[in-house]
Amino acid sequence: MTSRDTLYVGGEWVKPSTTNTIDVISPFTEEVIATVPEAGEADVDRAVEAAQAALAGPYPQLGADERADWITKLSGAIGARSQEFADTITAEMGSPASWSLMGQVFSATMVLDSFAELVRTFPFEEHRAGAFGPVLVRKEPVGVAVGIIPWNVPLFVAMLKLAPALAAGAPIILKPSPETPLDGYLLGEVIDEIGLPKGMVSILPAGREVGEYMVRHPGVSKVGFTGSTAAGRKVGAICGEMLKRVTLELGGKSAAIVLDDADLAAQIPLLMPNALMNNGEACVAQTRILAPRSRYGEVVDAVAEVVKATTVGDPTDPSNAVGPLVAERQRERVLSYIDKGNAEGAKLAVGGGRPAGLEKGWFVEPTLFVDVDNKMTIAQEEIFGPVLSVIPYDSEADAVAIANDSDYGLSGSVWTGDVERGIDVARRVRTGTYGVNAFSTLDLKAPFGGFKSSGMGRELGPEGLSAYLETKTIVLPGDYTPPS
Ligand code: NAD
Repeated sequence: MTSRDTLYVGGEWVKPSTTNTIDVISPFTEEVIATVPEAGEADVDRAVEAAQAALAGPYPQLGADERADWITKLSGAIGARSQEFADTITAEMGSPASWSLMGQVFSATMVLDSFAELVRTFPFEEHRAGAFGPVLVRKEPVGVAVGIIPWNVPLFVAMLKLAPALAAGAPIILKPSPETPLDGYLLGEVIDEIGLPKGMVSILPAGREVGEYMVRHPGVSKVGFTGSTAAGRKVGAICGEMLKRVTLELGGKSAAIVLDDADLAAQIPLLMPNALMNNGEACVAQTRILAPRSRYGEVVDAVAEVVKATTVGDPTDPSNAVGPLVAERQRERVLSYIDKGNAEGAKLAVGGGRPAGLEKGWFVEPTLFVDVDNKMTIAQEEIFGPVLSVIPYDSEADAVAIANDSDYGLSGSVWTGDVERGIDVARRVRTGTYGVNAFSTLDLKAPFGGFKSSGMGRELGPEGLSAYLETKTIVLPGDYTPPS
């Protein structure tokens, strides 16, 4: 990996304002693989100034088709370097190579493609009949946006913010996490390559203090934040006080309900990638598996078989399904949850520690707890690692109640022989997205976000685009007719 000494500000590679740096540490070798500048407050000021100039410049005035063309170009340029992006993300945060090309990169270009398609037909101007006569309802760029990115799916989450911003015509400043700044440098390079109008995008890797400075910046109108619920509350409070537009995509503790008519042989192998993907470092991970008491042993056996067979090791080796966790502190956090599970009386069925034979790297064994009560800490708190619980339930209503007994409400799934029965369960679970016998619990063209402490607002789809737009009503004279 290449070290860097510049920042991408308003379409230029510039020297940073401070000498602060970020060491990127491989979670597999525990060695520093690159050093990059850490953006400071003066860099944020410069990026906001460039973004304000871009807001007045040509890009926001482009027609929808031209904005769509830019988004398509960006998707193509990322796609052309997809393996490099995937390898970089695997190197900086340990996402297994078996997943990173699809989960980290193609999912990101698919987000761009879906916004390029959407923007061509989105009603940016609508003539309506008002109470006094005709009105024109217009959607305009929200202003300068900031996108705050977590380390677990850095490129994908960046696109959840960048794609609607470009679709709306809003300049955006992205803040990658200090753990994963390197893919942001590749992104800056491809934005340069395609020649996107200057000022539309800045990329400033930094920690939470500079992140908070960005959120508070008076020149910023909109914040798209993805991260922990604790940090999201802070960001939401600042935005509330300053009346900034904000979208918060936060944590989850999603329940996969296995109904008594499920075909376990066919459906558990579909469910399990949703539970363990990206080393369990996924906000939508289905970490609570709810099993009917009548078939509890069968579900436990089927789940345990998959967890036992899950290969752990070098994330660059495509035969491994689980790599190391992002940081030493994350491994300690996950191990401490395993201790809590044991202490609170859950039964450890598989794993539970550091894998044998891997002396280096922040690994945790894929771990399964059974006989878990939903009140236990491991069933209530987001662990963000490869640790699953199987929880018994007595009836369908009981399963729905357990799924809903959570501060979170991000995602969930149901596994059944009867799709209509599954949809009925889906209607009763209070989460922002849900899967019925589906390989994914979110769809890249449909709104994504959380109920309850999982966040506010939605990304993706027309709702995700609307989050980067302001609505203006223009009241017209009573005899006005729009030009045909
Ligand atoms: P985190 O909250 O520690 O950090 C996320 C980002 O926010 C980082 O860029 C960080 O520097 C920044 N940040 C932290 N405090 C801030 C503040 N006060 N002001 C401005 N910026 C601040 O989370 P993390 O550990 O990087 O990521 C893991 C979390 O993200 C998990 O809880 C996970 O569920 C959540 N997540 C949610 C989604 C979703 O779409 N709902 C997707 C991915 C990850």
